[in-house]
Amino acid sequence: MISKSETNSPEQSEIENKIQKACKNCQRDRSLVELIAVSKRQPNELVKAALDRGYRSFGENQVQEAYVRWNSLKPLYPNLKLHLIGALQSNKAADAVNLFDFIHSIDRDKIAKTLSLEMKKQNKNLPCFIQVNTGSEPQKSGVKPNEAVEFARVCSQDYGLSIEGFMCIPPIDEDASPHFAFLNKLASHAGLKSLSMGMSADFEDAIRLGATHIRIGTAFFGNRSC
Ligand SMILES: *Cc1c(COP(=O)(O)O)cnc(C)c1O
Repeated sequence: MISKSETNSPEQSEIENKIQKACKNCQRDRSLVELIAVSKRQPNELVKAALDRGYRSFGENQVQEAYVRWNSLKPLYPNLKLHLIGALQSNKAADAVNLFDFIHSIDRDKIAKTLSLEMKKQNKNLPCFIQVNTGSEPQKSGVKPNEAVEFARVCSQDYGLSIEGFMCIPPIDEDASPHFAFLNKLASHAGLKSLSMGMSADFEDAIRLGATHIRIGTAFFGNRSC
């Protein structure tokens, strides 16, 4: 029998090794951390190769681009999970609910309401994350840190959304660890169990600070084409 690691490309074994090591260092079970391979702006050949190696969890940040790639591919892989990790416009909510399995980027009241209506229409209840703007950056989406717990309550109790946890993208020029630690604390205040945090440059810190979903693009596939 061929083990999974033997079938991986060297690069991808390397990332898996790093994830395992990070889990071991903080005594977390590897199965508690889901690797989302962020396939945005990556060539189809690389995505197909990852599928061939058995990867089934992918992240995209644009609904339109995700549709082009996955709409015909998705039915061929029954246990494929697609994660929307980018900002969502209301007019794309129907497509997003139709294609994706997880939404990581609920960042305002209007989109929460729209998603809730759309999920009822399509008879779905996708697991969702609320994006928190932990660095309070004006150009970045996400709810304000001091509003996140109440917003999570409104989303689940008033809108009936399945809120699993919080997501963040720390400021590019800062140490990410305090942001991850803060998000973790916020999630326990809100009674939420999942944390979508950690990217290519900082997933080891994120794992140490409780990430349940790490979103890895370039460290998994290589540099993106623009
Ligand atoms: C692109 C993207 C990622 C992956 O970034 P890398 O640095 O390539 O790992 C993760 N999360 C979000 C929200 C992204 O848009």
